[in-house]
Amino acid sequence: MNGGNAHSSSGQGSKRLFLGVQFVNCGAYGRLYKNREGTAYVGGCPKCGSKVSIRIDPGAGTSARFFKYYCPM
Ligand SMILES: [Zn+2]
Repeated sequence: MNGGNAHSSSGQGSKRLFLGVQFVNCGAYGRLYKNREGTAYVGGCPKCGSKVSIRIDPGAGTSARFFKYYCPM
């Protein structure tokens, strides 16, 4: 490889970019993607459009990668 030293060092490809979420009330599944600040995973229910955001705890590094969400109906 002869890449120049101007190569961007950001953007780790090995980090998980989204979480799975089950919308229990709606019987649907979806994904939450990291927001621009990297502070939370955000997304919405594909059926009712409810917004979901799960804050990323910088210290704890939660091992959970699948969440259940109960849409307010
Ligand atoms: Zn829903």
